[in-house]
Amino acid sequence: MYLKGVGPQRAALLQSELKVNNLEEMLYVFPFRYVDRSKYYFIKDIDATSSYVQIVGEIIRFTSHGTGTQQKLFATFSDYHNTVDLVWFKGVKYIENKLKIGEKYVLYGKPSLYNGKLNFTHPDLDPVDEIETKLGNGGIQGVYNTTEKMKKCNLTNKVVQNIIQTIFSQELKNYHLPETLPAYVLQQFGLPNLDTSIRNLHFPESNILLQRCQFRMKFEELFYIQMQILRRANARKQSVQGFIFSRIGEYFNNFYHNHLPFELTGAQKRVIKEVREDVRSGRQMNRLIQGDVGSGKTLVALMCILIALDNQFQACLMAPTEILASQHYSGISQMLQPLGIQVRLLTGSTKMKERREIMENLENGTIQIIIGTHALLEDKVKFHNLGLAIIDEQHRFGVAQRAKLWGKNSCPPHVLVMTATPIPRTLAMTLYGDLDISVIDELPPGRQPIQTIHRTDNHVGPVYDFVRKEIAKGRQAYVVYPLIKESEAADFQNLEDGFKKLQQIFPEPQYHLSMVHGQMPNADKDYEMQKFVNGQTQILVATTVIEVGVNVPNASVMIIESAERFGLSQLHQLRGRVGRGSDQSYCFLITSVKQTSATRERMDIMTSSTDGFAISEADLKLRGPGDLEGTQQSGMPFELKMADLARDGQILQAARDFARSILEDDPNLEKENNRIIKDQLALRAPAFNWGAIS
Ligand code: ADP
Ligand code: MG
Repeated sequence: MYLKGVGPQRAALLQSELKVNNLEEMLYVFPFRYVDRSKYYFIKDIDATSSYVQIVGEIIRFTSHGTGTQQKLFATFSDYHNTVDLVWFKGVKYIENKLKIGEKYVLYGKPSLYNGKLNFTHPDLDPVDEIETKLGNGGIQGVYNTTEKMKKCNLTNKVVQNIIQTIFSQELKNYHLPETLPAYVLQQFGLPNLDTSIRNLHFPESNILLQRCQFRMKFEELFYIQMQILRRANARKQSVQGFIFSRIGEYFNNFYHNHLPFELTGAQKRVIKEVREDVRSGRQMNRLIQGDVGSGKTLVALMCILIALDNQFQACLMAPTEILASQHYSGISQMLQPLGIQVRLLTGSTKMKERREIMENLENGTIQIIIGTHALLEDKVKFHNLGLAIIDEQHRFGVAQRAKLWGKNSCPPHVLVMTATPIPRTLAMTLYGDLDISVIDELPPGRQPIQTIHRTDNHVGPVYDFVRKEIAKGRQAYVVYPLIKESEAADFQNLEDGFKKLQQIFPEPQYHLSMVHGQMPNADKDYEMQKFVNGQTQILVATTVIEVGVNVPNASVMIIESAERFGLSQLHQLRGRVGRGSDQSYCFLITSVKQTSATRERMDIMTSSTDGFAISEADLKLRGPGDLEGTQQSGMPFELKMADLARDGQILQAARDFARSILEDDPNLEKENNRIIKDQLALRAPAFNWGAIS
């Protein structure tokens, strides 16, 4: 507030809009982009498509139109060869007084077309002899984010820049910002010190130095996050004891040797082995299993459950939807039939009487495996000795919900979370940095990649012909719509309209259709779903309720309407509902003919790749981590100021490796040269929301 050029009103705005409470925080408001003002242009070389340019020249005349708030000011600017128009709608008086005809200026702005003529609206004009001091040596200028509110109160990009300039020139004139990384770290990576870095981020001396300083700040940010994650993981490994599943017994061996429906893939075997190592280590297991759709996670889960049972523990499997939970239940109870194991299903629609009986037998230990939905989380559900909790499609659950599940024992059970949303490595390293990760990177043999075809909505006739042919071969099809009720944008397909339309295209009695959506009563949903599973209906019209887990190997066609409305990872999930048998399957992505280039690009990714990891990397690049499926529910556990997970994967890797090597050498950071790290961690800890990590 007391800084020159700030005052109480701006101070309040900085606080409310940029969360800046003091000088130090102000220094950490960095430009979000830079403009290169080392180049100059001539008027003849620019057109309306040029971005920001700067031109040397002078004003040769002013003309003004209108009066009061309607007043506009025009000027003709000459670069001594050609002229261009300048326009101001605001602050006309001030501009007219400040700018002088015939004086040499540097004009800076973005050209546009007005009445067919090139012009600059509200350009910057600085006298030539002042421009050097303003830009510094590099000619690279930072641009700061400003909100609408700030702009309204005239707290513009330029004012922010001036405030920061004042901090450096007055408050920090003879002061060196204290270093936040140990000297040996700076040395090893050749990083500039903090003082240099912060000054250069605001007023770059050169492009090269700017890049090195940006690298340093990103590295530092990611380094401390990884330090926190790794230290937490270490602490947990030391303190949280886990049940010891020491033996592989009758259940596992009997199932493995006599009842396994197919040979396990190498990846499935490897992951089961990794789990085995965890559960006999004496530490609580916290493992994430990533495996693309159809990679066979359910079977892995089942084998792990059998290990728990062999050690006289109970196990539970929680799924995000009733459809999925019942499907797991029928599949698993069928496979376990010959072993005489007590398996039950508990969901929101379990009848009162049965529910009471289930809870009783869970608590007295008669039930060995319970499969269910959120219903398992209710306080009334108590276990005799829950040894293993598995969560399928974990990203569908909130963090607090997951935590509730392992709060059900005095000693936390081993935890296995499974996801078919392949989280890119960089994101997994930050989001789940303290979870161990297993990857099922192999599909069961005989699977053919799904053929994916993009069609616009004016060319769907041949798609339906194709569906008829597949149905004639005895196959089934899904048609997915993004919405249930009419959305405001009326051009999007609506499920119910779509269903009616499809009933005409595929009329009874030759064809039978089912429809399921999230707002249907569960009993109806199950009934419709069951008809499709049994093959009584050939086409299932649905919303994304079928996105996760639904398994009908006979289905060979997936049609996704308004595909532009889905995220790439979601499209990949939906597509994974077909191609679950050994026959060729197909996915048609239908978009509006009026598609943007971004839609085109996204559809191209989908038609050219069936690799869930590659797709989710691409999704991360296109949409940014905040939007990525898997982070939406819980949000990111921290905010990144500098680094960008989509682009800075390598810096993240370097920061993580280095953090790990430091902790191996000095786990409690007791060495003198790590003192800065310890102090910084103490300062930074509250910024990190641990609750968002399971
Ligand atoms: P997801 O990983 O998507 O949950 P599922 O566990 O539902 O996949 O398995 C997909 C399909 O593959 C199921 O029909 C399942 O029976 C089958 N499957 C699983 N493991 C194997 C295997 N090792 N060999 C052949 N088929 C398998
Ligand atoms: Mg599954």
